[in-house]
Amino acid sequence: MIAIKDNIAAVELQISSACQHAKRNANEVTLLAVSKTKPIELLEQAYSAGQRNFGESYVQEAVEKITALQNKTDITWHFIGPIQTNKTKLIASHFSWVHSVDRIKVAKRLNEHRSGQDTVLNICLQVNISGELSKSGVLPQELPALLAAIENCDNLCLRGLMAIPEKNASQASFIEMQNLFLKLKKQYLSMDTLSMGMSADLQLAINAGSTMVRIGSAIFGARS
Ligand SMILES: *Cc1c(COP(=O)(O)O)cnc(C)c1O
Repeated sequence: MIAIKDNIAAVELQISSACQHAKRNANEVTLLAVSKTKPIELLEQAYSAGQRNFGESYVQEAVEKITALQNKTDITWHFIGPIQTNKTKLIASHFSWVHSVDRIKVAKRLNEHRSGQDTVLNICLQVNISGELSKSGVLPQELPALLAAIENCDNLCLRGLMAIPEKNASQASFIEMQNLFLKLKKQYLSMDTLSMGMSADLQLAINAGSTMVRIGSAIFGARS
């Protein structure tokens, strides 16, 4: 059996030592447990260990888990996967956060579908920092148009930026994200979140000011 509780403790230790190394306070970094493809029982173990933020990538699977765990009302659900426009209604009605907003059409749809709910939908804009054609995310030069569109979306709260730097990315790509974040944050005062860092690059991300790390395999084991 995988000891989820031990894995979470080990990741928290990694976070605190990375913070110490970067001369940052460990409570500036939120641990998001990425539970995609993993069964409910493992999420429950993580919950029992005190984990409250969960990230999911596949809408149908996520909605099933959210429904099954709806009595645990203190869980915050984050959608981190690619967004198809025909899934925006389900996403807007089940999640508190969406990290992967990367185009105007998706932002507008999420905004429409969030209307009538008690709380706004927290969003991060996914930036394609590596500039690879295959990856999702908005290119830095396309950000101004997306930001302008979001200013008219009253049911969305712009919380920050998200990135998935390419495998084996250098510290420089993370710093580039940090610089972009710090620049935009001056203009968009609701921005407080830089979502980057996964199991393999947590330390580079924390060095570059990440405030939310999205950790899957280091907590739940490899995905098949
Ligand atoms: C799967 C996933 C993660 C977690 O990746 P690990 O390498 O398992 O930690 C983080 N962010 C996104 C967007 C993901 O899809």
